[in-house]
Amino acid sequence: MSNSDVRSYIERHEALIAPLHKDYNEKFWKLSLAGNNEEFEKALIEAKQKYLDVYNNRDEFQQLRQWKAAGLQLDELTAREFKLIFDGFVPNQMDPEVLRDIVRRETQIENLFNTFRANFDGGKASDNQLREILRTETNIARRRAAWEATKQVGHQVAPHLLELISIRNKEARELGYPDYYSMMFELQELDEKWVFSLFDRLEQLSEPAFTALKSELDSTLKEKFSVTESENYPWLYSDPFFQEFPQAGSTESLDDVFKDADIERLTRAHYESIGLNIDDLIRQADLYERDGKSQHAFCMDCDHRGDVRVLCNIRKNERWMSTMLHEFGHAVYDKYNDGSLPFLLRAPAHTLTTEAIAMLNGRMSKNPEWLTKIAGLPESEALRLSASALKTLRSEMLIFLRWAITLVRFERELYRDSGQNLNRLWWEYVERFQKVTPPPNRDQADWASKNHLATSPVYYQNYVLGELMASQLLHYIHQQVVKSESYVGQEAVGRFLVEKIFKPGARYDWNTMLKRATGEDLNPAHFIAQFV
Ligand SMILES: [Zn+2]
Repeated sequence: MSNSDVRSYIERHEALIAPLHKDYNEKFWKLSLAGNNEEFEKALIEAKQKYLDVYNNRDEFQQLRQWKAAGLQLDELTAREFKLIFDGFVPNQMDPEVLRDIVRRETQIENLFNTFRANFDGGKASDNQLREILRTETNIARRRAAWEATKQVGHQVAPHLLELISIRNKEARELGYPDYYSMMFELQELDEKWVFSLFDRLEQLSEPAFTALKSELDSTLKEKFSVTESENYPWLYSDPFFQEFPQAGSTESLDDVFKDADIERLTRAHYESIGLNIDDLIRQADLYERDGKSQHAFCMDCDHRGDVRVLCNIRKNERWMSTMLHEFGHAVYDKYNDGSLPFLLRAPAHTLTTEAIAMLNGRMSKNPEWLTKIAGLPESEALRLSASALKTLRSEMLIFLRWAITLVRFERELYRDSGQNLNRLWWEYVERFQKVTPPPNRDQADWASKNHLATSPVYYQNYVLGELMASQLLHYIHQQVVKSESYVGQEAVGRFLVEKIFKPGARYDWNTMLKRATGEDLNPAHFIAQFV
């Protein structure tokens, strides 16, 4: 075995996997645009299965293990690709029947989330309808009823999810990991101990600021809903998990700024101003609401060769402005890859790094410089609005951080010991990290109504790490790239991102890439300084 043998294996592997990747993405796209369509759904499951079958091949994995054990001297790119392929095989090393069973179970749970309608007010209500009530209703009894209804799906999902978790754990243990959670951390190149001690620090550092914000928010909300009791029950908040900042009247909304805006044009102008052209990406995107179309927003890279597609459902408000900036952040990362790298390396270094780029740009719709230069507001108006917008952004960050700490810590426990009293643990965490009072005598699987636990397992930590990286990048850009507190209108920003983040792709692990780009490891101090 030599470097060139491994090289030719990798080339064969890529030739096999690239079209399957494209096929899967195209089918995902088709289903997302068409909505409920059994035929498309079947096609998607088949495409996913074909892709997984490649990584399920146990003879091939045996060979990879032998090569790994032989300690071959490989060149840098070959070694990196070999590692990525090897890590792709690991979680799929199971009986093909078990793999099929897992795909089937995951799809079932996803369907349950998509199609479930809660019993409410003597009829059925969708998740969006219940959320709308939590956003607008002022009668506290009705708020409580709506909140309770948002949890019903979790009570249905929980037994299925627990079965799935025990299968995932069993397979991970057979592969020599303590559990599925630890396996996924290792395969995502995340050091579990380091991440959790980071979360400890974030919890401590954010405690005073969050406590202050929370008590101000609670009194505003209680006044608004004429609540006199001292408890802070979860139905006070506009989001079923209190993961978002409720618009509570203490801050001015930016929605007025965007009520007649051309969101698509502003997105293009934003990226153009930092030297990144997105005309082709806009042409390939599907940006407006339609019957049956997926209501979410996402970006996918079909071929690592420029077939990058963004799905949005633009409405003229600040949330969609921010979402468009976010999704096209993913898209420029994918577009400006290094065409000379092989397929597997023409991709972001990590989920957290592409989230960081998306978040860095998504935050701009609340930035005074952006509001003047891109949205065209008079400077005085932009300053006035952005004072409250920045307060909103800071509140959003704190609230999201505390929510993410709750979910990430809970998810680890879910895999470590799913036999413990999870219903109680959930509310212990919610009370401790989010300072929300548990409903009296509540013993229900409320946690299972969070779809990420079922459909994107061991993923949520990447959002927090992405926010931290976004703050680190912004700091570096201000200090070293632009050398002022400016971002918008600076072509040097785009050049920096392309050269130091996008082009390296996945050739380095995420932290090495970040260190090469900014001179330091992921450092939470920048996020703390910016928001806490
Ligand atoms: Zn994203």
